[in-house]
Amino acid sequence: MFDTTDIRNKFPFYKSNPNLVYLDSGATSLKPKTVLDKMNEYYSNYGVSVHRGVYQLGYVATNEYETAREKVAKFINADFEEVVFTSSTTDALNKLALMYSEGNLHSGDEILTSELEHHSSILPWMQISIKRNMKLSYIPLNSEGRITVENFKKVMNPNVKVVVLTYVSNVFGYITPIKEIIEIAHSYNAVVIVDAAQAVAHLKIDVKELDCDFLAFSGHKMFGPTGVGVLYGKKSLLKKLDPAFYGGDMNEMVTKEGVEVKDIPYRFEAGTPMIAEVIGLGRAIDFIEELGYERIESHLKKLHTYLIDKVKDIKELEIYNLNADIGILSFNIKGVHPHDAATCYDDLGICLRAGHHCAQLVTRWLHCVGTLRASLHIYNDFNDIDRFVEATKETIKLFTRLEGGINE
Ligand code: PMP
Repeated sequence: MFDTTDIRNKFPFYKSNPNLVYLDSGATSLKPKTVLDKMNEYYSNYGVSVHRGVYQLGYVATNEYETAREKVAKFINADFEEVVFTSSTTDALNKLALMYSEGNLHSGDEILTSELEHHSSILPWMQISIKRNMKLSYIPLNSEGRITVENFKKVMNPNVKVVVLTYVSNVFGYITPIKEIIEIAHSYNAVVIVDAAQAVAHLKIDVKELDCDFLAFSGHKMFGPTGVGVLYGKKSLLKKLDPAFYGGDMNEMVTKEGVEVKDIPYRFEAGTPMIAEVIGLGRAIDFIEELGYERIESHLKKLHTYLIDKVKDIKELEIYNLNADIGILSFNIKGVHPHDAATCYDDLGICLRAGHHCAQLVTRWLHCVGTLRASLHIYNDFNDIDRFVEATKETIKLFTRLEGGINE
């Protein structure tokens, strides 16, 4: 286990909010001081644009920006030119859907996804399928709510040209058996797009080992800043894509007749990029690597086991993912709207997410209006969980009093 006093000292959030229990890392992680300092250093010391200025500071900024790209590439075992900076996972997945569907897909083609998806992976393809008369189909979830290889095999077929799936569910915390799915999808010549927004905060990602075609994640869930994301694509595939956006920096030559775009990855980064955020993301990678994924997950596993042990027998709770693979608990207090419950938790100093978590197909699948979600990370400790459990009991008591007993 980490020494959480030591870990919390690295996060200024805890100085400002010493009594809060933050259990919403699935939405966004807290940011260590080293990341904030690194971004501040850019703005304070050399805050000029990249790829443009032919003066010393311009080179310094460009060098820091491209060093961050190198770090990202190494972090996910990609090649340098396979790393495209975007503003988020959402941005990456939308751009990719626009770019890949152009020229590669045709009326009647099928896109295969799942009901476990975040809206940002499913909606771009839903819109494109509607406009282009393509079929969007779903891998049936198993009884626990997981994507399985068996169920994938049942629906995979030669019409499927794109498979788009979450690597780790943001509602259930289940890990998708993505490597096996990719292997099968490739035997049908389909490309696989992996939404790694949650995965990147918990799992070592190796794009070569996974053999995924595209993968996207955001900086802010992995101790980095908001406003930066990554689109990874295999070189051979990226080279065949036309950019979604045109503008400054992404072109080699412009005449009245046309534009010659730069090589990958620069052709996909039109305009002045989010320089401080990219540099901050590089520092977030250093932070994760200093801790190590193994230690992170070992810490979280112990907390998660403790959490489950404390809540599994509370009869007023409906728990949806007792067997989550990462530290996420999705649940409801029976008969209580999750937003009402979350307000009580808030009064008791507990930050929880409530609602559909931008994954409405999951809540539909569960037949509920939404869930409460507690998600853990390295700065959480047993005391946080004890306070969460106490708050749960208080909330149950309050609603029992208010309603003369909770409706089941
Ligand atoms: N996919 C998953 C699984 C997520 O959890 C999230 C963020 N909640 C996203 C995609 C979208 O990430 P962002 O909002 O950073 O674009």
